Amino acid sequence: MMDKIEETVDKIVKGELELHKVDEVLDANAAMVARRLAIERMIGKTFPSIGSTIIDYLDVKGRNAENVIGAAQLPLGVAGPISVDGDYAKGSFFIPMATTEGALIASVNRGMKVLRLSGSVKTKILRDGMTRAPVFTFDSAVEAFKFTQWVISNIDRVRRITEGTSSHAKLKGIEPLQLGNNVWLRFEFETGDAMGMNMVTVATESACSFLEEEFPGARCVAVSGNACSDKKQSFTNELLGRGKSVIAEAIIPSQILEKQLRTTADKIEEVNLRKNWLGGARAGTIFQFNAHFANVIAAIFIATGQDVAQVVESSTGYTWVENRKGNLYISVTLPSLEVGTVGGGTRLPTQREALSMMGVDGGGNPPGSNARKFAEIISAAVLAGELNLLSALSTRELGKAHLRLGRGMKT
Ligand code: NAP
Repeated sequence: MMDKIEETVDKIVKGELELHKVDEVLDANAAMVARRLAIERMIGKTFPSIGSTIIDYLDVKGRNAENVIGAAQLPLGVAGPISVDGDYAKGSFFIPMATTEGALIASVNRGMKVLRLSGSVKTKILRDGMTRAPVFTFDSAVEAFKFTQWVISNIDRVRRITEGTSSHAKLKGIEPLQLGNNVWLRFEFETGDAMGMNMVTVATESACSFLEEEFPGARCVAVSGNACSDKKQSFTNELLGRGKSVIAEAIIPSQILEKQLRTTADKIEEVNLRKNWLGGARAGTIFQFNAHFANVIAAIFIATGQDVAQVVESSTGYTWVENRKGNLYISVTLPSLEVGTVGGGTRLPTQREALSMMGVDGGGNPPGSNARKFAEIISAAVLAGELNLLSALSTRELGKAHLRLGRGMKT
């Protein structure tokens, strides 16, 4: 095998074999090695750390990445346990987080301790659906409007076509948007335990072909017309939701605030109002009236094999607190949390183990219950992150914590 790899490396270096064609002459694991060795030779540097990987690239090929030469590794820590009382997540959970931001896991961990001492975090999924919005164009706005009416009155026919592409995609509805002679149809599907982007894209493509045949004059310009809106923040996602729309809430008694966090409900309420809401309004962080949803979501997404680019809309949302006679009510609302426990990167070895730590690896029974449980757990972790950061800001401890845990300095 080494001879075959050496021979392939030679061909790559001489420009006789393109990187993506190496998979045609070697199996996926050998191809990964050959590509890395060729890059090392061409650049004159070695990459032994990138090459140290436990991934079986036979599983990655055709699913997760192309032109692979190894793996990227990050530290993975745990926060918790956190006690969750949701419709799907019930019990105590350790949360895996992959990050390079010192102090982040410690911050979430401290928030979880406080939440644990205060009881359970309550969670509620408001809605669940993944979307794709193809863009169609017509000769006139009148024709375009007729099309939207036709689609709505023929939705059962469209449903039969789309649901024939997957045993898990269930069409929930189609929301039309019109601009002049252009129409976007925002298809929304339940996708079981999958985040669902491939699933709904395939299903929507089948609908586009059907609609073009049935409604002459309709031309589908692109299966994704940005009103979906994938990997972008949008009013549409905020208002209609995308993935899971989920809320987590808790009440922290005043004695726990004082003893554990050395703060008060009053102080946290002021920071939330003047920082998250007023500061957000003044600066225009329009979909993100929160302290650091993105930190917690990105770390969990990386640890569990989610599509990390979807942190863009998954981390939009709102933190709301109230001083209730000295006790603190705190909630987080995430309109577009896009997560899955099957498909995508969830089947990779460390990512699958991280999901199994929370009891959410693979398909749920019934389908969809694992992904919803996972979304509820994430919302509780986000709540812990908000509680701790607002508290650290209210007592001016943030800088010190980062010096100690982000720069290794004694403070
Ligand atoms: P997927 O791996 O493409 O599809 C999920 C698969 O799991 C389907 O084949 C489904 O079967 C099967 N499955 C088995 N048990 C299931 C269960 N309990 N619930 C749901 N499905 C189950 O995953 P996906 O979530 O649709 O797509 C995720 C990937 O899409 C990620 O890699 C992401 O990076 C990528 N992505 C794609 C686009 C795009 O435009 N295509 C955009 C953004 C991201 P059946 O369908 O046969 O029932």
